[in-house]
Amino acid sequence: MEKEFKAGFVNIIGLPNVGKSTLMNVLIGEKLSIITRKAQTTRHRILGIINDKESQIIFSDTPGFIENPAYKMQESMNEFVHSALKDADIYLFIVELGTALEKQVTLYEKLQKTDKPVLLLVNKVDLARDEIQTKNYITRWQKVLPNAETFIISALNKFNVDSVVHRIKQLIPTHPAYYDKEAFTDKTERFFVSEIVREKILLLFKQEIPYSCEVDVESFKDEKKIVKISAVIYTERATQKSIIIGKGGESIKKLGTLARKDIEKFLDKKVFLELFVKVKEKWRNNDSALKNFGY
Ligand code: GDP
Ligand code: MG
Repeated sequence: MEKEFKAGFVNIIGLPNVGKSTLMNVLIGEKLSIITRKAQTTRHRILGIINDKESQIIFSDTPGFIENPAYKMQESMNEFVHSALKDADIYLFIVELGTALEKQVTLYEKLQKTDKPVLLLVNKVDLARDEIQTKNYITRWQKVLPNAETFIISALNKFNVDSVVHRIKQLIPTHPAYYDKEAFTDKTERFFVSEIVREKILLLFKQEIPYSCEVDVESFKDEKKIVKISAVIYTERATQKSIIIGKGGESIKKLGTLARKDIEKFLDKKVFLELFVKVKEKWRNNDSALKNFGY
């Protein structure tokens, strides 16, 4: 008899910078989520799907939970986290080895209440001082989340990620596929293009600048041999706009080149990328601007 098909939602939860997006990309084998050293790189909830003959696992990467949001944008980022805390069949709670449990109270208190399986992934074990540190850290978590199953992993080095996937496949419920079996995400190519541009902004500019920017892909034309894309970078202030452009347009040129190369890799096609910069004052606190940007 044929085995019954299994499908389910696996939501990745954790503080900023613990490695959620890195893990998601390793799981999917595609660079879906942008990753930088900076906290709050991920702003949306992004689905990544793995399909095989017997199952469909739908992961969702979320922004890191922000304890004290300062902008409406951050409130809406937290909303993505809250929604991810509601609809999972399985939770992957990622913690970074060594990070104080006290900083994660809001999250673990929510997970204490769930009746769904929780896999506690202790990430970045490649940086462990020794085994005792890891053991003690895990013991403390097990007191707080006694029902969670613990895995030590290194998302960066793909260490032990296979056993996590193996366990997920055992735990997901019997259910028909939710998405097309060819799909690996719910987001459009345009979305990923704007994310790649945003990643380069995070890499190239300091302090508040990246957090004040949003990217909107205005046109995306897939022609035979080339994809022609034009995107607008919105900043909150005119001074930020001139920093993004740089002396004689130097900075934006560099930004455009880096972004184009990654977009070409992602789309597997030649790309012509045009970037513009516009000021949209205080968009991070402006409801209609946030709505337009998909928050
Ligand atoms: P997120 O904010 O939780 O999505 O975290 P990211 O996936 O963006 O990763 C934040 C930073 O941690 C990046 O610089 C990653 O390269 C780094 N990182 C992620 N996983 C590991 C790991 O297993 N080991 C080490 N050493 N660094 C990691
Ligand atoms: Mg992230």
